[in-house]
Amino acid sequence: MSRLVVDWGRCDGHGLCGVLLPELVDLDDWGFPVVGVDVPDDLHPAAKTAVRSCPALALRLHS
Ligand code: SF4
Repeated sequence: MSRLVVDWGRCDGHGLCGVLLPELVDLDDWGFPVVGVDVPDDLHPAAKTAVRSCPALALRLHS
């Protein structure tokens, strides 16, 4: 199982990941993602899409 993490030095908090992956990413009051969660196998494709879509290259999947 992979883990979804954020590089806080890069994240600009526009919240796209929360829109693309609402099952795993909550956004805080400032639009920053609340992550650090394990990614179930069935959500792995959606998580990869969110990682590829992050405009700041801040979202990562760690095995
Ligand atoms: S899409 Fe990327 S830059 Fe935007 S809030 Fe999510 S991790 Fe941060």
